[in-house]
Amino acid sequence: MEVETASPEETERVAARLAERLQPGDVVTVSGELGSGKTTFIRGACRALGIAGPVTSPTFTVGHRYTGDPDVSHIDLYRFAGVSAAEWGDLEPYFDEAICFVEWPEAAGRALPPVRATVTLAHADGDRRRITVDGC
Ligand code: ADP
Ligand code: MG
Repeated sequence: MEVETASPEETERVAARLAERLQPGDVVTVSGELGSGKTTFIRGACRALGIAGPVTSPTFTVGHRYTGDPDVSHIDLYRFAGVSAAEWGDLEPYFDEAICFVEWPEAAGRALPPVRATVTLAHADGDRRRITVDGC
């Protein structure tokens, strides 16, 4: 599926539609350059899944796990050049029994658990963003 949105709110709504089809254990990768709307998209999905608090990019930690029904995890691999076995040990709990969104999945290479859906965002004119959702 490919759509173009004209505002952050619209991007959140696209994410909400994807969220309806997800269940615990599902991994969704979210790619795109800085400012393309990855975190905005994940925030929209979290809202649709009932997560009420702030949803921001993990900065001082590799991820957030939001408690809910189901739990939703948000991992950001921006600073990773690759993921070592030891680092995977730290990441694994985020995937366990949660819907897990992964920003900058490229850093993980092929080490990610099986991916349910891939989302790619790209800048278009002004506030417009082109969003591609595959696999779901
Ligand atoms: P990323 O995580 O990819 O770096 P963010 O979601 O943190 O991106 O930031 C995207 C920025 O672009 C936000 O400030 C958001 O308000 C703005 N924005 C403007 N138009 C859109 C749009 N159509 N979709 C998503 N974000 C948009
Ligand atoms: Mg981000």
